[in-house]
This record gives sequence, C-alpha cells and structure tokens, in this order.
Amino acid sequence: MRKVTVIGGGLGGLVAAIASAEAGAQVELFESHRTLGGRARSTEAPYIANDGPHVFYSDGPHWSWLVSRGLVTPAAKVPLLDGLRLRFRHQGRLRATPPASLLRPLGSRRLRAPVDQTFTSWAAARFGEESARAMAHMMGVVAFDADPGRLSAAFVWQRFLRVTRPAYPAARYVVGGWQGAVDRLAARARELGVQITTDARVDTLPASNPVIVATSLDAARRLLDDDSLRWESGRTAMLDVGVRRQRGDTFLVFDLDEAGFLERYSGPDPSVAPAGESLIQAQMPLGPGESKAAGIERLGRMLDLALPGWRERTTWQRSAVAAGRTGALDLPGTTWRDRPAIDRGDGVYLVGDQVAAPGLLSEVTIASARHAAHLAAGAPVLNLLAAA
Ligand SMILES: Cc1cc2nc3c(=O)[nH]c(=O)nc-3n(C[C@H](O)[C@H](O)[C@H](O)COP(=O)(O)OP(=O)(O)OC[C@H]3O[C@@H](n4cnc5c(N)ncnc54)[C@H](O)[C@@H]3O)c2cc1C
Repeated sequence: MRKVTVIGGGLGGLVAAIASAEAGAQVELFESHRTLGGRARSTEAPYIANDGPHVFYSDGPHWSWLVSRGLVTPAAKVPLLDGLRLRFRHQGRLRATPPASLLRPLGSRRLRAPVDQTFTSWAAARFGEESARAMAHMMGVVAFDADPGRLSAAFVWQRFLRVTRPAYPAARYVVGGWQGAVDRLAARARELGVQITTDARVDTLPASNPVIVATSLDAARRLLDDDSLRWESGRTAMLDVGVRRQRGDTFLVFDLDEAGFLERYSGPDPSVAPAGESLIQAQMPLGPGESKAAGIERLGRMLDLALPGWRERTTWQRSAVAAGRTGALDLPGTTWRDRPAIDRGDGVYLVGDQVAAPGLLSEVTIASARHAAHLAAGAPVLNLLAAA
C-alpha cells in the first residue's frame, strides 16, 4: 500500500486525499489552519457567507464526481421567480434584459477565439467596441479582474460561452454554503481512513514520497522553494451584507459597467440567513493601485441600485479584499497548459486553481487533485487533462 502525504486541507487537499484513498493509498493530510476548507470555508450561522461569492457549475466535468459521492447534495438551483429578478447594470441603470451589444455575439457561439490576442482586440474587431466591453465586464463574475478584456481572447470567450449557455442556469448552491461541501468531503475522507491533522503547518517537505502539495500557489512557492510557481490572478473588493428582506430585491446583477457582481444567496438557499432576512454577497474588481475603501464605495453604488434602502436595512456586514486568491487568469499567448505543472518530479505533485489543469475556478483545483492523486497512488492516470 502506497503512503501519500497531502499538504493543505482545502477543496484540493480533501479531493486529493479522497481520490488517493479510493485508489488504494494510505493517506495522511496536514492543514495549517484550525479548521479545514481553505477558501471554501463559510462563516458560521446565522449568516453563512462563503469566502466571496461562490457557486459550483453543474455543467462542469467534476460536478458528477462530487454528486456521485454525495459531497455537494443537497444543492439548490436558481429559483425561477428570483432568477427572473436577474439584472444587468448598463450605463448606470439596472435593466432586466441584456443590451443588444451583449446579445449580438450570442449568435456566433461556434466561433473560436485566438489564444495570442487580447479579448478586447479580438472581440472589438468582430462585434464592435461596445459589445467587447459588455462581454468582458460581464466576465467579471468569473475573472474577478477590473479589465478581463486584457486577458487571452480564448480564455474569456470560452467563459462567456459557458456562462451564457442557452439552458437552465448551471449554477448550484450547496445548501448550507460551501462549508456544507467541506464538511462532507472531510467526513468522506475520514470514512476512507484518511488521517487528518489540523493546526499542523508543514514548513519542509517530508522526506518520504509521494507528496501532494495542495496549498495556494504562493504557499507552494515558499514550501518548494521554487520561484517559478507564479500565475496571474484577480484582485477584488468583497462586501457581504445581511438585510431585512424587501419584496422586489434583485437576485443577481451582472455589472456590464464596472465588471462587478452581486448575488442574493438566500434566494436559492434561505438557510444562509435568519428568517425574514437576505444574505447578499457582492464583489467589485479593483483597478491598479485602487484601495479597498474605494472599491467598497463603488460596490455600495451597485447595491444602491439593486437593493434600495439597503444601508438602513442592514443587520450584518463584512468586507474584505481577495488578491491572488480567485483562480487562474490566462494572459494572451498562454493557456492552462502553460501554468505550473502538476508533476514536479521526485514524487511531488502540485494541486490548486493556478496549476496546469483545465476548468473554471475550483474545477482546476479538482481536476489537478484527481490527476495528482492517481499519479501519487500509482493508479492508472485518468484522461482529465487530455480531454480539454
Ligand atoms: C472571492 C472568491 C470567489 C470564488 N468563487 C468561486 C466560484 O464561484 N466557483 C468556484 O468554483 N470557485 C470559486 N472560487 C475559487 C475557489 O474558492 C478555489 O478554487 C478553491 O477553494 C481552492 O481550493 P484549494 O484547495 O486549491 O486552495 P485553498 O482553499 O487555498 O486551500 C489551501 C489550504 O492549504 C493550507 N495550507 C497552506 N499552506 C500550508 C502549509 N504550509 N501546511 C499546511 N497547510 C497549508 C491553507 O490553510 C488552506 O486551507 C472563488 C474564490 C474566491 C477567493
């Protein structure tokens, strides 16, 4: 039986531990924090807020892996009535229908975008500047970047097609927040015999291999003493508020003006806020050198539009900045294949959302975790990376 050590107890570490144990390895996991979950942790009741606005996408390749193990169920779908209160912030107003500039490119879903051009230059030449700006800013929802138009055209276009897929919205809300998924992942790992130690920061790589490093890329860079472990990511101000509920409050805003995003999480899952109240999580990407206070002020203006009187109705609130924590962004000329490789040699494997694996946000973490687990446990390698 192979012994596998996993460093990090976020989503990636937990998935890697489960997949390694399922492949027959004996697994030990170390997490530096007092509790498991990393960026997938949520606050405690009565306001159960994720670490920023978070959803799983049920059209992703890893959803079925999670569902088949009961790790993300029950999960709520976009409630149709609330879903109809979806709004687009455009030219300073909230509108219920997307502007024509956003609708126009949807007829070109078969187009492939180039890797080596910025999204803005490619999309403006095809659809016009106004459409390019609207699409790029809409992708703030998954890019957490003030100017997604500067990224690779292929990267942004793929995400635009995915988010605007003409089907029932793929977003899924794990009941009880992402913490619900973390708790189930941890329970499943323990059931499989994984030894989990929290409050256990690892500062040097264990001598015995294989080792799966499932920390953030910044922490992996220090742990592996490898300065090449870097990749682009977003920077965004986040504001979470509990408010007394009011009829007609907006469910979701795509901010086509400033690339922000807002969602009322208690719509699909009322358990995340006290009775009679709503929980809203919102984010506003920060410009170069922009302060958190300036970002929160801009975010406040979006909330003014979406939830009239929210300041007077607020019962709970917190704010933060997520810098370099919102997943990989591919610049022109790069794809996920150019990110830091999973297999570092000598039985060391890297897992996370900024490594060389396909997918959206945490899907990258999950793909890399399953791939690393199979390599570490000496099991047949899955086709997860070749597929995309
Ligand atoms: C604002 C925001 C919004 C997001 N929205 C979405 C979304 O809607 N959908 C989506 O799929 N994803 C989303 N994500 C991304 C998602 O949260 C991450 O991809 C995922 O949680 C990353 O998991 P991980 O295990 O790779 O890393 P982490 O969660 O960072 O876990 C790493 C763990 O390693 C531990 N650790 C670090 N160093 C050491 C050490 N030396 N020894 C031991 N342990 C160590 C840390 O304490 C941590 O628990 C979002 C992220 C943010 C910040």
